[in-house]
This record gives sequence, C-alpha cells and structure tokens, in this order.
Amino acid sequence: MSLGLPLASCSIEGEDSDEAYADRIREAKEKLGNRVMILGHHYQRDSIVEHADATGDSFRLSKMAADSTAEHIVFCGVHFMAESADILTNDQQIVSMPTTRAGCSMADMANLPDVEECWHSLIEELDLRDPISRENPDLPASEDDNFLVPVTYMNSSAALKAFVGRHGGIVCTSTNAKGVLEWALTRAGGFGKVLFFPDQHLGRNTAFKMGFQSEDMVVWNPREIQNFEQINLARFVLWHGFCSVHQRFTVDQINRLRESFPDALVVVHPECDRKVVQAADADGSTDFIRCYCADAPSGSVIGVGTEINLVQRLDSQYSDKEIHCLDDSVCPCSTMYMIHPKFLAEQLESIIKGEKRNIISIDEQTSTDAIKALNRMLEV
Ligand code: SF4
Repeated sequence: MSLGLPLASCSIEGEDSDEAYADRIREAKEKLGNRVMILGHHYQRDSIVEHADATGDSFRLSKMAADSTAEHIVFCGVHFMAESADILTNDQQIVSMPTTRAGCSMADMANLPDVEECWHSLIEELDLRDPISRENPDLPASEDDNFLVPVTYMNSSAALKAFVGRHGGIVCTSTNAKGVLEWALTRAGGFGKVLFFPDQHLGRNTAFKMGFQSEDMVVWNPREIQNFEQINLARFVLWHGFCSVHQRFTVDQINRLRESFPDALVVVHPECDRKVVQAADADGSTDFIRCYCADAPSGSVIGVGTEINLVQRLDSQYSDKEIHCLDDSVCPCSTMYMIHPKFLAEQLESIIKGEKRNIISIDEQTSTDAIKALNRMLEV
C-alpha cells in the first residue's frame, strides 16, 4: 500500500467517461489490428498502459518499435521518445503521439543553439579539440590528447543527439551511463573533457560512481558568466538541467520513512540529487527500480524515489510488499500526464480515417547523425 495519494481520475469536462474512451480505444485497436503498435512508457497512467502493446523505458520502446512490422507506432510518452522511435524505425513506419504537446521539461532545458555556443566557448577558451579532427574518433585517445567529447542523455531532442553524433560523441541511458562516460573519457584523452547534457544529476551521480570528486565536475549554466579557470580544472562539464519530478525527492523524506519503518529499503532514480542517491540503499533506471521491487523479499517495505504512476503500479503488482512513494504529495510527471485516453482514442480514430495527425518526423540528415551517436552507445 503506497503512502502517495491516489491519482485523481482526470476526466475532461463535458466529454465521455474514462470507460467510454476505453471502449473507443479498444474498438479502434480492433479495427487497426497489427497495423498499429501502442507504446506506453512506465510513467503513463493506468488508463493508457492498459491499452499498450508494450511498456518500458524510452529506448527499449523505440527498439521494440523498430523491431515490429506495425505501420503505425503511437507513442504514449513525451516528445523526445517519439523522436527516437522515428529515428530507429524504417521509412515506411509512421510514428505519432496522442498529443504533441507532451514534452519533457528536462529535455527542453538544453537546446541546440545554447549547446553549440557552450561547445565553441569551451573549445576556444580552453584550447580543446573537436573529436572529429581525429582520423577515427571512435578509438581511444592518448594521454597527451585534449578532446571535448559530447555526451547526451536519451532525454534530449533529436537535434542534440545529431549534434553529438556529428562531433564524435555518444548517447547514454540511465542504465548504461557509467559505461558510456568511461568510453567518453578514454576518447577525450588525458587533457580532454566530457560535456554532458542535459541532466546534471545523472552526470554527477555517475561521475561519483566512477570515483571522481566534486572538484572534477563543474556545472554549465548558459544564463551565467562562466569561470573558465575553474572549468579548466574539471573533467566533466555538466549542463544545468534537471528533472522536475526527481528533484522533488529529499533526504528528509528518506529519514521520515526510516523513522516509521526502520527496516525500509530505499531505491531512487539517478536523476535525483546526489545527497538523495547517497542516502538511498540503491539507485538505478526505471527498469532497475522495477527489478529491485520484484526481487525484494516478501514483506519488505520499500521507499521509491520516482514517478508516482510507476510506484503505484509496483505497489499493486507486488501486494506482498509495501511500496511507498517517498514524496507524500502526488508527483506525476505533468507532461507525461498530458497523454489522456481521449487523445489516444482520437489518434487511433484519425489513423483509421487516413488522416495525418500528430506525426513525429525527423529529417534524414538529423536521423543519420543521431544514429551515429546511438550506434556508439550500442557498442559500449
Ligand atoms: S519524469 Fe522528468 S525526465 Fe521523465 S519525462 Fe517527466 S520531466 Fe522528463
């Protein structure tokens, strides 16, 4: 039983009931058959997840879309996820979303012009080099080298994944961030640096796991004056981005849970603040959190620091355990929550009518460059 309040069922005023939308979705799915695949991210509400042909994290879902033969992929998640699906699927597959207004506030914190400005400033001010000036940027650099290797989290726009691909860089997920940052450092060389965006917390937590200290990391806020002397001493330049959901978790919440349940286990997402990750028993991706709850002994009390829809689903799935959200007040991802069953029903019905609506389409050059960065990640 979760401490978090139950999420209100979000009906849209003057419209059908949730059950009526569910009927419309089922009917449309039946008509479309295997022409359509509905993907549901772990953070989606139950009334969406129940219609999903696959659930998972963003990269896993995009790969499943690419492996499927469905002509239409309807991504119930946020914008960057649908972009990744379009990059990985073939030209005959059409990727769409129930509403294109569902963005990710963290991904939006880093845009291409700001990252390009940061990149050029670092190269010029610190006398660093672009990895593509090497014959093969995929090979380890020498101890004398000084390359600036860009790394972007999966939670970023296609334009940034393409930027990284063009500059000999790489994409990471919260599962493989450590391996990817180790790869990047060996490509930077002994005097080089890694520029990581957009989530400073994932970058910081991962660098600490690799044995680095606070002085090895600096935060780049594009709205502030930069201290290049300090940046020059660091190995990691972390973009000033964060997740509005995961930054709500605090050490106080963990302490309060342990006061009530001294044997409680605590697992959090690495997008949480460093102090929260340190205070937890474990941290990892959404899939890691799911496995942690599944593997905990029966009767365990587990405090979880991630999005409430996933926590509540885990709590109902593992009824022999008490799974609590660390935050007493409900903390859904507001942009994920924009995907309402009404919009899913309308999207499926528009596909039946042959309308081109809410389609996510990445141009060929951007896809080609982004794939370079994604392929490097797959090789790590
Ligand atoms: S939970 Fe955070 S990172 Fe994930 S989509 Fe929402 S705002 Fe973005």
